[in-house]
Amino acid sequence: MAANEMRKDYLLNRWVVIATHRRRRPTDFAKKPEEKPVGVCPLCPGNEHMTPPAVLVYLSSDGEIRKESDEDDFRHKEWLIRCVPNLYPAFTPPTPDKTKEVKETPTLARATGHHEVLVESPIHDEHPSVARVSQLTHVVNGWLDRLRDLSAKPYVKYVSIFRNYGQDAGASLSHAHTQLITTPFVPSIIDEELKACKKFWTKNKKCVFCDILERERKGPRFTWENENFVVFAPWASVHPLEFWVFPKKHQPSLLGFSQAEAKALAKVLRLCFGGLRSLLNDPPYNFGFHIAPSNEGQDRYHWHLEVYPKLAIWAGFEKSTGMFINLVSPEDAAASLSEAIHAEEEKI
Ligand SMILES: [Zn+2]
Ligand SMILES: [Zn+2]
Ligand SMILES: [Zn+2]
Repeated sequence: MAANEMRKDYLLNRWVVIATHRRRRPTDFAKKPEEKPVGVCPLCPGNEHMTPPAVLVYLSSDGEIRKESDEDDFRHKEWLIRCVPNLYPAFTPPTPDKTKEVKETPTLARATGHHEVLVESPIHDEHPSVARVSQLTHVVNGWLDRLRDLSAKPYVKYVSIFRNYGQDAGASLSHAHTQLITTPFVPSIIDEELKACKKFWTKNKKCVFCDILERERKGPRFTWENENFVVFAPWASVHPLEFWVFPKKHQPSLLGFSQAEAKALAKVLRLCFGGLRSLLNDPPYNFGFHIAPSNEGQDRYHWHLEVYPKLAIWAGFEKSTGMFINLVSPEDAAASLSEAIHAEEEKI
């Protein structure tokens, strides 16, 4: 029997075993539909009072978008999207009361920041896989508005925009939503990527991600592209069916997006998640944006979206070593996803 391959991430010191002799077809991972939780949805229209006041609300007014926020007991109705502080935040803003502050040490810090929920649609089930592109464009614009606002705060060093879909992927609410968490330092995976970008730029006078894109576009992990974006399965995919979305243009952050780019991203999301849904019967997944922190000269970074379908369970080996075993080769994943995304293009 041929030995399995060990592969290292492009930039991170992270290894994965591509277990091709335990090879499974991507469609072996198709999911049974999850049971839908019952009960009142706090994110549905009419239940706005169940959330804290929204920090951002999009309203439609004479064909234009009007941006507002809620105050005290007042809640805007008839919204297109709304962004609210998380009821159980992981990070909280600084308080003026210094007596309640944590005395920081090298191994202890206050979890200062923001934790928000962006409600993507008034329609409970309007997830990216089935959403109207016009609605997803509001979502992208909502991320941009919050990213701009949060990045400007002096104690915010990084803004993570991520999505959990399905109970198995950690979503406690089934209403379509994304989350934003700001951290008072740059998290280690982003930091490692940033450092590798800088190092590569110093040596080669170009962006390492632009270089990766150029190669992957012509290779066996290429999945899909249009004028603005490229989708591929990364060389050392940790998750079965993992895929990454990159802008073709070298762009450190989503900030500075044009309206055309926001719409283009909305369309890519619709196609990719629609494809994933039809390929694997609507599987749970997580995604996270990797963007340059705004407060440093990070023009050498190249933002991207990493999507991790939740098809495998990390067990003893993964948890205890930080090494991974992936039963689907990225090359097989790319071929299946490519077909599914192209089929999706016919539908919208
Ligand atoms: Zn709902
Ligand atoms: Zn680049
Ligand atoms: Zn990344």
